[in-house]
Amino acid sequence: MSTSLEMKKIQKWYGALHVVRDFDLYVKPGEFLTFLGPSGSGKTTALKMIAGFESPSGGDMLLGSRSIVDVPPYERGIGMVFQNYALFPHMTVAENVAFPLTVRKIGRAETEEKVLRALQLVKMTEYRDRYPNQLSGGQQQRIALARAVVFNPSILLMDEPLGALDRNLREHMKIEIMRIQDELNMTVVFVTHDQDEALTMSDRVAVINEGRLIQVADSRSLYYSPQDRFVASFVGESN
Ligand code: ADP
Repeated sequence: MSTSLEMKKIQKWYGALHVVRDFDLYVKPGEFLTFLGPSGSGKTTALKMIAGFESPSGGDMLLGSRSIVDVPPYERGIGMVFQNYALFPHMTVAENVAFPLTVRKIGRAETEEKVLRALQLVKMTEYRDRYPNQLSGGQQQRIALARAVVFNPSILLMDEPLGALDRNLREHMKIEIMRIQDELNMTVVFVTHDQDEALTMSDRVAVINEGRLIQVADSRSLYYSPQDRFVASFVGESN
């Protein structure tokens, strides 16, 4: 089950600071779209507004045909993965993954089945009784991913999910995330400042600078037909 996301003239002001300016964007069902931009360009703020952790100062946002600007975060049906995993340290892996189902008051048999399926998806079934501090960073991120998708969200948001991992692990997790997105056919909005990550993982990349969407296009078009000098220099950089 995948859903479209539409941002219509979305704005965010923090006091006098115009952090997100006029975001107009349509993310297709099942699409992998990445917000790519330098630090401070407004990527995380845009993602937080989709998740419902921040309210837009103006504009509208639709998930499928439903406006979500007035819908509380936990009723939006959105899964989220953060850079720092944000697992509950006092809960086992299975309890962490079950958490979104527990708060939705899903029954025990269905919860067990869904947790098992999510752990199979991220290849972590044998770790179900461990605690987060007994896992490596990559393993913790797999569990965070399992927890984010266990309730079949209509869209998955990821904020720099690979940022805390070392280079080898990052390459590996990149492939894993792409496999999982493909298997679930899920709409994904991904945030990174890493050009290589954005270009290799996404169906389309939304390049952001100083709160503006500069160009939204597939990797090839960005690389070969950058709209302006910023896109050309930023996308052309490699780490
Ligand atoms: P990015 O994710 O691209 O690094 P952010 O969305 O985190 O950028 O931040 C964009 C701008 O908004 C930055 O200038 C940042 O300092 C500012 N900002 C972010 N959150 C807040 C906040 N809660 N209050 C005030 N300013 C903020």
